[in-house]
Formats: sequence, C-alpha cells, structure tokens
Amino acid sequence: MTATQRIVIVGGGTAGWMAAALFARFRPAPYAQITLVESDAIGTIGVGEATVPLIQHLNQVLGIHEPDFVAATQGTFKLGIEFVDWCRVGNRHFHGFGDYGEDIDGVPPHHHWLRLHAAGMPEPIEHWSMPWAAASRDRFAPPQAMNGAAAAFKHAYHFDAGLYAQLLRRHAEANGVTRIEGRIAQVLRDGESGDVTALNLDGGREIAGDVFIDCSGFVSLLLGRTLGVDFVDWTHWLPCDRAMAVGSARGGRFTPFTRSTARAAGWQWRIPLQHRSGNGMVYASRHLSDDEAAATLLANLDGAPLGDPRPLKFTTGRRARFWEHNVVAIGLAAGFMEPLESTSIQLIQTGLARLIELLPSGVIDPAIVTEYNRQTITEYERIRDFLIAHYCLTQRDEPLWQECRAMTLPDTLAHKLATWDASARVPLYDLESHQEPSWVAILTGQERLPRGWDATAGQTDATRLAALFAERRDALARAAEKMPPHDRFIERTCMAI
Ligand code: FAD
Repeated sequence: MTATQRIVIVGGGTAGWMAAALFARFRPAPYAQITLVESDAIGTIGVGEATVPLIQHLNQVLGIHEPDFVAATQGTFKLGIEFVDWCRVGNRHFHGFGDYGEDIDGVPPHHHWLRLHAAGMPEPIEHWSMPWAAASRDRFAPPQAMNGAAAAFKHAYHFDAGLYAQLLRRHAEANGVTRIEGRIAQVLRDGESGDVTALNLDGGREIAGDVFIDCSGFVSLLLGRTLGVDFVDWTHWLPCDRAMAVGSARGGRFTPFTRSTARAAGWQWRIPLQHRSGNGMVYASRHLSDDEAAATLLANLDGAPLGDPRPLKFTTGRRARFWEHNVVAIGLAAGFMEPLESTSIQLIQTGLARLIELLPSGVIDPAIVTEYNRQTITEYERIRDFLIAHYCLTQRDEPLWQECRAMTLPDTLAHKLATWDASARVPLYDLESHQEPSWVAILTGQERLPRGWDATAGQTDATRLAALFAERRDALARAAEKMPPHDRFIERTCMAI
C-alpha cells in the first residue's frame, strides 16, 4: 500500500470547504490525510449565492439531501436567469435551464421558431421553455414531479454562501478533515524541486504536506504569490472591475430565478433567499464611481437595505496555469469571471472533479499537470466567450456598451457568431459548459438573429408547425399552472428552521 498522501487545503471559503468535503469523500483515510487551514481574521469573500444545476451532483455525491440543503442554507430554487434591459432598455429575456422541445423533422426547434418569427409571430422563444413557463408564474416543482415534455428541465439554487460553507464544513469534519485556524505567514519550498513543502502559521506552527490546494481567494497565496504564476487579464473583454453588494429585506415576488438588470455602466443582480434578498452591482470603474454605483444599487432594491453596500474589487481573468509543482488553485485563487451566469461555483466543482480524477497517490507526472491545465483553461475560455456575448451584442448606447459593441472578439467567439449568423447553428467546442439552447437564449434575447435557418425547417408544413408550437406552449403553461407557488413549495418541503 502507498503512503498516506498529505493534502493541505489553504482557505475555508466555498472553494476550500467544497474541496475538503469532496476529498474526504473520494480520498478518505488511510489514502489521504486532509487538513484545511483558514483564518477567521481574514475571513471569506462572503458572496456567491446563485448556482447552476451541476451543484445538484455535488450534493448527491456527498449524500446531502435537497430539502436538508435548502433548509440549512436558507435556499430557494432557481430555474434560470431573467435578463432585463440588456439588449436595450425595455427588453427582457430568459435563460432557463432547459431547451425548447424536441427536434421537428430532424431540426432543432429554434430553427422553426426563427421561421415563424420572420413570418411575424411576436412571441419570444422562451415561451417554449418549461423553466420560463414555471418561472414567469413564480411556480416550482422539481422535474421528477412532472411528466413528458414538462419534465425536461433542470434546476439549481440560490443560497447563503456562508451557511453552505458551514454545512460543507460539518460534513467534511465528520468525515475526518482536520481544520486549523490561523494566518499563514510563510510558505516554505523545497530548494531543489521548488515544490511547496509546508506552511508556517503566525505563532510558529508548521503544516507540512504533499499536495496543496490553494483556495486562498483573490490573494492566490500559493499559486500566484509564492510560485509567481502570471495572471492573464481579460479586462479588455469583460470591462467590469468592481462590485457593490448589499442584502435587503425580502420584498416583492419570491421568484424562482435570478434577475440581472443591465445599467448604464454595468449590471445589477437580485437573488431571492428565504431570509433576505442578495443584491449587487457589477460595474466598470472607468465609467462609474463607487458612490454612484452604491446610489444606483440602493435606489433599485425590492426591500429595505440590510446595511451599507460592501465594495469589492476584482480583475477578470485567470492564472496562466492552475496547477504548478504540487499546488493546484481552485476558486478565486485560480481566476475570476463576473457572476453573470453564476459560473464560479461551477468552476470550483469541475476543477475539483478533474483534480480528483487526475491526482495520483504518488509522484505527480508532468503529463497530468499539462492535461489538467489544458482542460481547465479551455473551460474558462468557453465560459468567458459566453459572458462576452452578453456584453458585445447589446444595442444600448451608453459609453460602456458602445465600447463593448466595438471590441475585437476572441477568435473562438467571433467564429461562433459568424457561424450562427450564417446557419443558425452554434458550433460547440470541447468542454463547453453552455449548450446550444443556452446560446440561443442569449443570441435571440439580444436580438442577434441569423440570416436564415436550416433549409429542412423551411419544408415543414406551415399549418402543422403552427399547431405543434401552439400545442407545446399551451401544454407547458398547463403543466406550470399545476405546480405549487415557489414559496409554498419551499414552506412544505424545505423551510429553514
Ligand atoms: P474566499 O471566500 O475569499 O476564501 C478564501 C479563504 O482563504 C478564506 O477562508 C481566508 O480566510 C483564507 N485565507 C486567505 N489568506 C490566508 C492566509 N494568509 N492564511 C490563512 N487563510 C487565508 N459565484 C457563483 O457561483 N455565483 C454567484 O452568484 C457569485 N457571485 C459573486 C459576486 C461577486 C461580487 C463576487 C466577487 C464573486 C461571486 N461569485 C459567485 C464567486 C464566489 O464568491 C467564489 O467563487 C466563492 O465564494 C469561492 O471563493 P473562495 O473560496 O475561492 O475565496
């Protein structure tokens, strides 16, 4: 049997405790000895409340049941994101966790929708999406409670990130993870290999390890600061560099979706939780001062603010490499993209899954490091392109949005848009998180309509097509009406106690 691997996790935010819980599950003693170091004095970033459906899988593998999870985190259900004023003021569109139905005559439904739309049908494509049918009525039931076409969707959650970290911590500690509280003052390296060997805490305590998972947040203590891995700056594509966050008393509708409202120099989020709403402004400091951002945020809350807005600074981008020597950075230590599609926690989860898959119990072969970095870089870049598409396709005319419209796009995104324009198809690359229906939601929502559609769709009998569309839309509406109101569903099944 190989020696026990000493895995040291640096940081106890969402990334650190997700790492701890997953490693405890997949590398239990005696295969690994897992230690997590965090500093209460430094604290965590304390934001990150909206997710994508992948998180269900994380809870499943950890054995955390949905009602317990939602109750413990003051959570609510999320069927997608409503985008308000993004294309231009007055425009609304919905990116739901679902598609627009099955192929008709072998062709995806959005081609047929494009044909009907060109013929004058005014309804947006989300009217054929089950998440929208439910979300627009503030209703929720999980897909397993539904039948047929009405069951073809996924859901995610909104939750209190601090409470989720506590839940994961309880789970990880119960499964053998040792937590050490203290500030890391020094990181020690092997003189020959350059590997990290140990952490020195204030007060002199030393923690030695074989593998170090850097979840230290924006400071990127091990990967960035100690190993000097460069940061690849994407600000020229995603120009926002500040956020202002504030909780508010829960008021108005208890929506099963996140709302993102574009503003003159950025955008505002609203995330409904059981005990409060999470709100924030993401903005470009070149175009908006902190005071103006705070004023805009406070002027657009559903309920009374629960304190002063908290400013956060960030630089969008990623580390040039995520795994270097025996250090792997996860979470904010690895990079940051704004929470427009709630993808940060997803990137933590996929990074950890990849690491668990590739990390050997013995010597680290350079090939696996290269492969980990290749996959992770690709995944980051695919998400980056999806976010840029929200920015560059707007018709708004404030300076920020004009700049975004004029920017030179990454080749990968430029090719995607050109192919869409020419064929109504979205070419997907390796490790693409967002599949065609997600792209269709954003492209049609931002009124980027292609020049044509699949020629076969043009041959479907027009009367039959109109009947099929009416049938699906009405069936989804009927199914949604049978779902309980979102707040009642939570009260019945998973109210926080
Ligand atoms: P942190 O929470 O910052 O944790 C870092 C940890 O490292 C802390 O425990 C700290 O004490 C420790 N540490 C640092 N230095 C030391 C040291 N010297 N010694 C000891 N310990 C140390 N993601 C989503 O998926 N959905 C969202 O809706 C979303 N919204 C966001 C909104 C904003 C404005 C921002 C900025 C981010 C958002 N994110 C969102 C991202 C999300 O917040 C993070 O991905 C997530 O919280 C993980 O953070 P982390 O654990 O990497 O870092």
